[in-house]
Amino acid sequence: MTLLVQKYGGSSVADADKIKQVAHHLAQAHKEGNQVVAVVSAMGDTTDELIALARQVSRHPPEREMDMLLSTGEIVACTLVAMALRDQGLEAISLSGAQAGIRTDAGHSRARILGVDTQRIHQELEQGRVVIVAGFQGVTEDMDITTLGRGGSDTTAVALAIALKAQRCEVYTDVEGVYTADPRIEPRARRLDEVSYEEMLEMASYGARVMHNRAVELGWVYEMPILVASTFRSGPGTLIHGGANMEVRNKVRGIAHEVDVAKVTLRGVPDRPGIAATLFQTLSQAGISVDTIVQNASVERLTDLTFTVSRDHLEKALEMTKKVAKQIGAGDCLGDATLGKVSIVGAGMQTAPGYAARMFQALYQEGINIELITTSEIRITCLIDEKRVPDAVRVLHKAFELEQA
Ligand code: ASP
Ligand code: MG
Repeated sequence: MTLLVQKYGGSSVADADKIKQVAHHLAQAHKEGNQVVAVVSAMGDTTDELIALARQVSRHPPEREMDMLLSTGEIVACTLVAMALRDQGLEAISLSGAQAGIRTDAGHSRARILGVDTQRIHQELEQGRVVIVAGFQGVTEDMDITTLGRGGSDTTAVALAIALKAQRCEVYTDVEGVYTADPRIEPRARRLDEVSYEEMLEMASYGARVMHNRAVELGWVYEMPILVASTFRSGPGTLIHGGANMEVRNKVRGIAHEVDVAKVTLRGVPDRPGIAATLFQTLSQAGISVDTIVQNASVERLTDLTFTVSRDHLEKALEMTKKVAKQIGAGDCLGDATLGKVSIVGAGMQTAPGYAARMFQALYQEGINIELITTSEIRITCLIDEKRVPDAVRVLHKAFELEQA
């Protein structure tokens, strides 16, 4: 008998009809002779609504209470799925994260899973029940409820698949898998049959937000294959796994993009040890997370330093940078809030030259100016004018022939 772990996102359980359809999906898997564990997210926008509600009653809601509150969203969803399954004549039971044995540290709102005690789940499965687990939550040693951070149900699902030694973790969502580019921008984008963990991480952090990065990382560490597929349409989906074929014809796997990027440039920065440390420590203490950092080679012991932050952090970042500039005797400080990013991603690129040149050429022919360039081993990213991001995605999709399998 195969043990399946399936996760259903918030949009898949957004209303009563959808919950019944999810139950039908689960019943099908059960009837095919599998043991089934489902992880569900909160219905639709429930989590956002609960956060808004908390803010109406308190200016600084305590983290512990927030976690108790937010955990209820997933509990509502898993009880309803269990009821719908019973209505279809199946034995089913809902479990909160704590009941399912998900133990975490005490880092409220961003707790880490320490381990999963699978005894209860196994017991229920042996009774022939479908087990529905509330995603996104766990319990501390002191029996306090924790949550795993936004999008955390993916992490619950992968952690359960690992602990239960499932063959893979199936994530059902409102898209049919991972695409070569965002299909809303490039209609010729193709669903990928497979993608490596590493590629998925690069695509996700650069905008192809199909799955939570933490869950992909967890899958990678434990080599748990993850299938992403649509809840309401049958189709093969995309398999995220370690062995994703490196010898494919096309070494660029996909085009990722991001908008709402802002850039800060500090000019005339004295070139001596400790300057970057001072600036970035100040920013990190202010809770500003910095993404790309570029420092130019110095001319007469002065350099320019540029970094990017998300747009909503720009004002704060400028304020802090100006303060530091004064302290260290640097020149002016400029901000630009209208940037976007476009990246080519592919594990095959690291062994083949010429990808950067092809990317820059394609952008140049489209008249798109590159503001900054950054790379990892399997990704090349250009910062460009935000308005040109859709054009850039399309032109790169074409240049790297991604419409053809
Ligand atoms: N409901 C939580 C959120 O919206 C967790 C999840 O959906 O995975 O972030
Ligand atoms: Mg959600």
